[in-house]
Amino acid sequence: MINIPKGTKDVLPSESYKWQYVESVARELASLFNAKEIRTPTFEHTELFSRGVGDTTDIVTKEMYTFLDKGNRSITLKPEGTAGAGRAFIENGLIGGVLPAKMFYITPAFRYERPQAGRLREFHQFGVEVFGASGADTDAETIMLADSLLKKLGLSVKLFINSIGCPTCRAAYNKALKDFFAAHLDELCFDCKSRFEKNPLRLLDCKEEGCKKINSGAPSILDYLCEDCSAHFEALKEFLTLAGISYEINPRIVRGLDYYTRTVFEFVSDSIGAQGTVCGGGRYDGLIKQLGGNDCPAVGFAAGIERLLMVMEASGVQIPQPAPVKVYLAGMNDECRKKAFELAATLRKNGVIAETDHMNRSIKAQFKYADKLGAEFVAVIGESELSEGAFNLKNMSTGESEKVSFASAVEYFSK
Ligand code: ATP
Ligand code: MG
Repeated sequence: MINIPKGTKDVLPSESYKWQYVESVARELASLFNAKEIRTPTFEHTELFSRGVGDTTDIVTKEMYTFLDKGNRSITLKPEGTAGAGRAFIENGLIGGVLPAKMFYITPAFRYERPQAGRLREFHQFGVEVFGASGADTDAETIMLADSLLKKLGLSVKLFINSIGCPTCRAAYNKALKDFFAAHLDELCFDCKSRFEKNPLRLLDCKEEGCKKINSGAPSILDYLCEDCSAHFEALKEFLTLAGISYEINPRIVRGLDYYTRTVFEFVSDSIGAQGTVCGGGRYDGLIKQLGGNDCPAVGFAAGIERLLMVMEASGVQIPQPAPVKVYLAGMNDECRKKAFELAATLRKNGVIAETDHMNRSIKAQFKYADKLGAEFVAVIGESELSEGAFNLKNMSTGESEKVSFASAVEYFSK
């Protein structure tokens, strides 16, 4: 027996409707906001992520699935969706087209992490990217899309926002952070010691309890924002209020990726404990240039589909079940089974969900099977029904039966 790789999951036929539901709500909302789908490859050149996600991030330093292909190229399975979307935006000339360019994706993502509830090695994201607009109204609109999705899925979550400024204000802040953490260097975890040298902002994102405790006393980025970044953050709050979205400011949010500038945000649920961040995003005005394009502002978010489903489950959200089998056609013998087969074919051609026997079951066993399927009706065809040209139709919820002619079956079920 070969088992599933650690940190991956099967979505079984009995569960997939939940995924389809979340995905369809996401698609519906994306189109309401005029975002069109982009599909990019599952793997990219490794350099795209080391440049686009940032080589001081956890993702790039320890979580990527990287390998050499048979042509000796370094290839990486995408750990997130933004870098690929950014690459495609530049490479296909969309950067010179109509802006802003709003797009969304639903994609698997791969990260070599320690698997636990809500943390997988292959997971799925619904993400939105808006390229070309720099104003805080765009940030607020992007947050609004995420907020609408979470509300439509029935989740109660908290929105936390922050601004991490631009490279100018961050230089002063990084210095303040270094001064602060210098006094705590011995108490920091191994990773944070190297973050201290390479990218002190990352220290605030550490998940180790010890580091988190020290972090709570660190200076706030909001005290270091330059005039423009400060005005941008004020505008964001104003637009969120206009959109009727409540938020809380949390100066500790920095996000795990290097490409963020100014706005960062997270939607957090408290119903699933540790992995409560269902959605995260922000502005990343530096990314497109970093990937070789012209200067081009951008803002986006990604929501983890597994986490959305976990929170929905934990908070008892009822996900609409797919349409059940409308009619199960039971045949008494081979001749009758052929008629059942033929009628099922005709019904399906006319959009009626029909099922029939494939296991040579007795009539009694076929009824049992139809019941398991949740079929609304069972049509029984025996010798006499065959000669009459009509089946005996049982309504499985009322128990009532009636005769329906083969010729009027389509009409009967289509009404
Ligand atoms: P975390 O802080 O939980 O590690 P992150 O900052 O690494 O999250 P992002 O890169 O912003 O996460 O990804 C966006 C969303 O994707 C997250 O908010 C989360 O819902 C989901 N996600 C991230 N990593 C995983 C994972 N390993 N398994 C399942 N979902 C994930
Ligand atoms: Mg992570």
